[in-house]
Amino acid sequence: MALVTGSTSGIGLGIARAFAAAGSAVVLNGFGRPEDIAETQAIIVSEFGVKVRYSPADMSKAAPIAEMVAMALDTFGRIDVLVNNAGIQHVAPLEQFPIEKWDAILAINLSSAFHTTRAALPSMRKNKFGRIINIASAHGLVASPFKAAYVAAKHGIVGLTKVTALETAEANITCNAICPGYVYTPLVEAQIDGQAKSHGIPREQVIRDVLLAQQPNKRFATVEELGALSVFLASDAGASITGTAIPVDGGWTAH
Ligand code: NAD
Repeated sequence: MALVTGSTSGIGLGIARAFAAAGSAVVLNGFGRPEDIAETQAIIVSEFGVKVRYSPADMSKAAPIAEMVAMALDTFGRIDVLVNNAGIQHVAPLEQFPIEKWDAILAINLSSAFHTTRAALPSMRKNKFGRIINIASAHGLVASPFKAAYVAAKHGIVGLTKVTALETAEANITCNAICPGYVYTPLVEAQIDGQAKSHGIPREQVIRDVLLAQQPNKRFATVEELGALSVFLASDAGASITGTAIPVDGGWTAH
């Protein structure tokens, strides 16, 4: 069973679909209109014939996260794969960075992974198997201006990944971070619109000259690529890969 946080949209949904396609039951989590979430659930069930559950837990709060993990364990008896993916973004210069945005980004993009991992590890240890995949970012390895909270949280999750890997290394549990460059999702769509308005330039120019300026291959990574990498990390072939931060960024961090 694979529990994927923030999987009602974007990368998380792509990863959940990849695990379902590989035959795994999945627990979805994230926000959205109830009818859209029900439809997403039904599509995965009918396409892949696996069990799908949904938790509305808010990843900015410890208590609902504990309830989500307990629900997953009650329902399936185990969590084989935990994907910490939920995340938000806010772009502003440091001096004007809203304090509540800093707090929310640190809570959702970093602390939630601590809470899920802490809650899921006892059962993974008992089952003598676990795969934890943290969706960091190229911004977990390098910085960009105006993304203080996001870059801090993503560097933080790369550190948490290493600690988790070291503490679980002898328990047949692995923990790795995936560090995507730009992936076309609703999170990025919002940035395209925002940057087009603030710079007064067309969308195409924002994509080429702003978003993909650092991404040498000049294309967005896809949610399918990230899903396939996640399934690989969870497979037997990934058993010795732990504590890593794997860039999926078209060469961005090779600069
Ligand atoms: P997205 O906005 O499409 O999806 C984010 C998901 O997180 C949604 O399901 C949303 O409902 C959920 N979410 C947000 N706040 C939540 C909360 N408080 N509690 C529970 N769920 C919550 O974004 P995405 O682009 O798919 O991003 C997913 C992850 O990938 C994030 O951690 C992001 O930082 C990371 N990432 C994205 C890109 C990119 O280019 N899109 C690049 C690198 C890393």
